[in-house]
Amino acid sequence: MTAGELIALANASGAGAGCPRCSALVCRGWESMPGGFDRSNLRCVGTLRAPGDDDPTLAEFHPAGTHGWSDSAPIAPGWFPYNRCDVWQCEGCARPFLRYTEYGGYYTDERIREVRAHLVVNPPPGTAPT
Ligand SMILES: [Zn+2]
Repeated sequence: MTAGELIALANASGAGAGCPRCSALVCRGWESMPGGFDRSNLRCVGTLRAPGDDDPTLAEFHPAGTHGWSDSAPIAPGWFPYNRCDVWQCEGCARPFLRYTEYGGYYTDERIREVRAHLVVNPPPGTAPT
């Protein structure tokens, strides 16, 4: 899925607080998946992973001085962690989310972030992160 497709998806679903099925997901920035959340409320609709890229970059895209946890951090397909995300939608209201799993030394952390269209950017590959 491209940045343009992701923007279209977010615009089509509208912005909002969601519905009873997804209201537990408050994740303007990256958050851990809430314990006990029923994942069957979400449906996978695509991926941002590049086909055949087994080792996507760990570089992040933050031209405005945001950091990885910022609510306002750009959603930049091709950059970490978006380059390992799948795209999901709520089964109830179609609110879109990104999900990936962070692998630490001795733990894994399932992370989720709501997609807001105005944050999706498409910097050209190779643009130096700041
Ligand atoms: Zn919903």
